[in-house]
Amino acid sequence: MKQYDVIVVGGGHAGCEAALAASRMGCETLLFNINLDSIALMSCNPAIGGLAKGQLVKEIDALGGEMGKVADRTAVHFRILNASKGPAVQSSRVQCDKQLYRLTMKSVVERQPKLHLFQALVDRLLVEDGRVVGVEDQTGVSYGAKAVVITTGTFLNGLIHIGMAHYPAGRAGEMASLPLARNLSELGFEMGRMKTGTPPRLKASTIDFSRLERQDSDPAFEPFSLSTHHLREERLPSYFGYTTPETHCLIRDNIRLSPLYGGIIKGIGARYCPSLEDKVMRFADRQRHPVVMELEGLDTEEVYAKGLGNSLPLELQEKIVHSVPGLEEAEILRAAYAIEYDFVQPTQLQHTLETKILRGLYLAGQINGTSGYEEAAAQGMWAGINAALAVQGRPPFVLDRSEAYMGVMVDDLVTQGVDEPYRMFTSRAEYRLILREDNAALRLTPRGFELGLISPELQEQISGRIQQISEGIKRLSSLRIYPGVNVNSKLEQKGSPAIKNPLSLFQLLKRTDFSWDDLALFSDLPDFPEDLAACSDRNVRKQIEIEAKYEGYISRQREAVARMKALENRRIPPGFDYSAIPGLSNELKTKLSRVAPETLGQARRITGMTQAALAAVLIIIKKWE
Ligand code: FAD
Repeated sequence: MKQYDVIVVGGGHAGCEAALAASRMGCETLLFNINLDSIALMSCNPAIGGLAKGQLVKEIDALGGEMGKVADRTAVHFRILNASKGPAVQSSRVQCDKQLYRLTMKSVVERQPKLHLFQALVDRLLVEDGRVVGVEDQTGVSYGAKAVVITTGTFLNGLIHIGMAHYPAGRAGEMASLPLARNLSELGFEMGRMKTGTPPRLKASTIDFSRLERQDSDPAFEPFSLSTHHLREERLPSYFGYTTPETHCLIRDNIRLSPLYGGIIKGIGARYCPSLEDKVMRFADRQRHPVVMELEGLDTEEVYAKGLGNSLPLELQEKIVHSVPGLEEAEILRAAYAIEYDFVQPTQLQHTLETKILRGLYLAGQINGTSGYEEAAAQGMWAGINAALAVQGRPPFVLDRSEAYMGVMVDDLVTQGVDEPYRMFTSRAEYRLILREDNAALRLTPRGFELGLISPELQEQISGRIQQISEGIKRLSSLRIYPGVNVNSKLEQKGSPAIKNPLSLFQLLKRTDFSWDDLALFSDLPDFPEDLAACSDRNVRKQIEIEAKYEGYISRQREAVARMKALENRRIPPGFDYSAIPGLSNELKTKLSRVAPETLGQARRITGMTQAALAAVLIIIKKWE
């Protein structure tokens, strides 16, 4: 039996990051995928990033991951979402050339030293004394490993639905992973069933784009990755349109043909991402719903028909597509479908994403009940890092809720579990003002360096930036201007109110009508920091400006983090007996025993937990201590 340090099962978005992290940290790693041509395939829309997801991509990059780099190299349409809102909720999103994305990630994975690829379907885990020791593929060949990461996406017991027809598949055109699903269940994992869906793909030359509203890419864009220095030149537009009363009529009249409404699909779908038949039935008063035509790449006719996702029979899908202005003649290249699949309830995981039942086994991505490429990639990286650390006998890597969106997601998953597909939202992060896209590198690159995933050069560049920012704040804070004709006439010139009391340049930057470029107005002051004002690093300027403009909010949030950490980090002894705590409801006792939180902070976030219950747990912990 061939031996590896880490085996990763599944080469999707989670699996690629897991395998790259483990091998880059020095582990001999084997990555399995059912088909090597579908490594890092985008199952649904050809886009990376989006609200809160952009933050995840930048965090992955800051730790030394790959998703942001590959997205930058293959992107053909760029947008900053929420550009008119505050920096905490701004997020980047790109549309990529779908096949180029897959091929680029495949070539990165293929060329990574210590990373071995193999095309096979893994059927079961090899287990000895409560520890996973390897896997077996569908031909009966065994492979040994000190740690195994499973990232099988929608493939576990996958079942595709198109109208009343259904058939086993992991994704359209790909086989499902049936024995592994059975094996996990036999090993004692609590499994659940979820569903998702995808819209039809249309042929570009059959679409009348003149009847749709064109949206071009944003002209300026900050790449996802710290190591991207230029983006490709080619750009593709998107096209916006709407469904019509005819579309809605078709759906309502034929709703009995939807497996979703006919009671055939039992898996739980995401409320926030309804299919078209769901939208029409649930929001009956809406006259139209938006659709967006996203071109899937530079050299293909395939167009992703966002907003037209459904699970109706093909004949009906055609009528629905043709009812949208501009799509009257559109040809369907790939039918829309819904897919049901098994997931593992993530309360069975520790914060490292190692399972509580089997030592050495890690789960990441859609298998944990999440949805989305970015959520999967972030977990994959997290699990891959922890698998490598465990193999090397090093302490685990866990980020908390105040350090990263990744930390929020993992904590939500393992503490609360999921009752619908989990995706990241900015509202899930209570400290989102300090977890911005723009400061991901400052927050996490030093951690990536400690792990061995960030080069010394990049680390030096980022630590130089951190120093420049803190020095810049100090220098601008120490340089004061005083009320007087000279100063106030300059402020008046730019329409900014006069000052009545002495003010530092840093305080002046707090004003919404005063920007970094306006600092030059005071260049005649003695000690004016010429070098800083002319600083060419856009990131340094941006960080200082954000720190000034949001100083009050940011410092309040930092104080809240300090208060939270005092409670958060209070450890609950392993094996703590909740059944003996007086005043706790039986329901809470069961939940706490099942989740087995490691800290009071985790206990606090369990659904249904009250202040009184938390106080009761704290009293007993103090007695134990
Ligand atoms: P995947 O990307 O699914 O990758 C899993 C990989 O594991 C595959 O390459 C497969 O070959 C491999 N594999 C599986 N079993 C085995 C095995 N036993 N042995 C070896 N290899 C194995 N997300 C959204 O955010 N929005 C959406 O609208 C959306 N719609 C979707 C629609 C459909 C139809 C599907 C299928 C997915 C959709 N998703 C959507 C989910 C998104 O694709 C996933 O969240 C994301 O790809 C999960 O990444 P992953 O790495 O966990 O799994």
